[in-house]
Amino acid sequence: MEEAEISNSNCCDEDDGTSQKRNPESCPSCGSRGKKVAAITPRAILVEQAAAKVPDGGCRYCPTPKCPTLYFAGLGWSAMVKDARVRVGAKEEDEPILLCYCFGHTRADVTEQVNRTGGCTIPAEIASLVKCGQCACNVKNPSGTCCLGVVRDEVRRALEEFHRAPRGEGRNPIGPSHLRLALPAGFWAYPWS
Ligand SMILES: [Zn+2]
Repeated sequence: MEEAEISNSNCCDEDDGTSQKRNPESCPSCGSRGKKVAAITPRAILVEQAAAKVPDGGCRYCPTPKCPTLYFAGLGWSAMVKDARVRVGAKEEDEPILLCYCFGHTRADVTEQVNRTGGCTIPAEIASLVKCGQCACNVKNPSGTCCLGVVRDEVRRALEEFHRAPRGEGRNPIGPSHLRLALPAGFWAYPWS
């Protein structure tokens, strides 16, 4: 009797739609909760055939890097990364990894500028263009939102790597070049003690 109950309960768990895997707000591939996006975003990002099936009420965007699902809605509809017309930076491991879809900044651009100057002006440039109304994140960025958060995270990552890396070969020997220019000649040799 007890055994039968256990067996029934296991069987029902598979299909009752309440398990984490089948939560309509979770990605069918990776279980990420995803982020709500209006229908205009996947319709602009996906190839025609997939775009035509986007639900009117919008869907969710899966941000998980290696997950093959790009958008999903409820338990029925989903679209894959391979259905996108554009390269989805968040899902790529090899450059070019686009961070800013409106103005074309890549992860490599951020890393290069940080390694060359010890800083990065890209977030400020983007912010200024956004202020002028020159962005179109809802139809250009697969996530449907402004890229600034992602770009700032990348700048932070690049700066951490820059400051952690040993000085020497291929590196500025004493620090960021703008800092060097701002300091008087002979600064580093001055006998402070
Ligand atoms: Zn996913």
